[in-house]
Amino acid sequence: MERENLWTTYTDEQLEALERFACDYRQYLDHGKTERECVAESVALAEAAGFRNLKPLIDRGEPLKAGDRVYFNWMEKSLVLFIVGEKSLQEGMTILGAHIDSPRIDVKQNPLYEEAGMAYLDTHYYGYIKKYQWVARNLALHGVVSLKGGRSVTVRIGEEENDPVLVITDLLPHIADDQLKKPAEKVVEGEDLDILIAHRPLKGAQKEAVRAAILELLKREYGIEEADLISAELEAVPAGPSRDAGLDRSMIAAYGHDDRVCAYPSLRAMLDWSGTPARTLCCILTDKEEIGSYGATGMHAVFFENAVAELYQLTEGFSELGLRRALSNSRMLSSDVSSAFDPLYPSVFEKKNTAFLGNGVCFSKYTGSGGKGGSSDANSEFVAEIREIMDGAGVRYQFSEIGRVDVGGGGTIAHLCARYGMNVIDAGVPVLSMHAPTEIISKADLFEVYRCYRAFLGA
Ligand code: MN
Ligand code: MN
Repeated sequence: MERENLWTTYTDEQLEALERFACDYRQYLDHGKTERECVAESVALAEAAGFRNLKPLIDRGEPLKAGDRVYFNWMEKSLVLFIVGEKSLQEGMTILGAHIDSPRIDVKQNPLYEEAGMAYLDTHYYGYIKKYQWVARNLALHGVVSLKGGRSVTVRIGEEENDPVLVITDLLPHIADDQLKKPAEKVVEGEDLDILIAHRPLKGAQKEAVRAAILELLKREYGIEEADLISAELEAVPAGPSRDAGLDRSMIAAYGHDDRVCAYPSLRAMLDWSGTPARTLCCILTDKEEIGSYGATGMHAVFFENAVAELYQLTEGFSELGLRRALSNSRMLSSDVSSAFDPLYPSVFEKKNTAFLGNGVCFSKYTGSGGKGGSSDANSEFVAEIREIMDGAGVRYQFSEIGRVDVGGGGTIAHLCARYGMNVIDAGVPVLSMHAPTEIISKADLFEVYRCYRAFLGA
């Protein structure tokens, strides 16, 4: 396969559009560091682009017609958007699907403790991380504390310049001889990922005075009791905004490119669509991919299928057979990131079948590990169709695998959508340092994947 660095192929207008798109993307990243924040941000953008909430329309049984733009907000953690097409839903939809959860450090349900005059939050990490990467760096705390009675307190601490940040400490090298001899997997263990949050005691408190002071602070500033932390979802993520990276500003360094670097262009391809499509267009932004897509808001659940059923009811009148046909006749880009070739670690890649930074969208016919295990493996007929669409639109792409055979592997939501019988293939952006607190992508690949998603919706 011929490789081409995209930067030299763009016209001046394209380069301008690329920078604007990168700028918009960085805003989306900075506003959406958790799945809930991404849903809120996506809903705001969708409403500004004329999408209406499907929920009240369902409640009123209000009919929908071709050209209508609606979204289905599932538990504030997953989102499905539709633009109703001219054709019957039975003929299938054109779908873009990405995930909006990212690896991070979650706070446990009974998190608070005091030790040696310091207060900590105990955590349980979320997703596949190298634990040693998350210590001795600034963290922010995002999430919700749900209270009895239905009210919720939103938490976002550590992002504003004058906010305090939180840190998981690491051992100084001077006395870390034993630690440094451990394998990387054990250097920092899961139970060592506790977040230091305070060390100032409450005056007059008899015991655990720092803990007592924190409880008073939680009450005063957030109106919450210790027991309320049981019903909280608090996520520690790297603090601070995304940044341009490289002396030439060709890249973006940020937390959570996986998979917002696909979610945002998918969303934008939908929002930027004007007019009435022939087939119904759909964009899925889902939660829980990083822990296997389980749970009510992950792709193993039926929220997507239910959303299509509701759409069916309001457009043509629900039919079970029609729904099944709608799903099986659909075609989808499972929009997820892949690894970019890293010349510092060449031995884990097989160069012919690896994505390179700045070489465009990476398609993966299959993912999985140990002999394609757990992968959906797209049909060659569909791959040919994809080549035709992309070549026709002048979209630059590469076909890649995550690494050499048997060095590891990974999965996406593709296999869960393939269960419906639809044609689906992974299409995303190559990422350096994937799953690290700071991940790197090329602005050129970001722009190209947006062009890819637009071409797919328009095909
Ligand atoms: Mn991913
Ligand atoms: Mn991932």
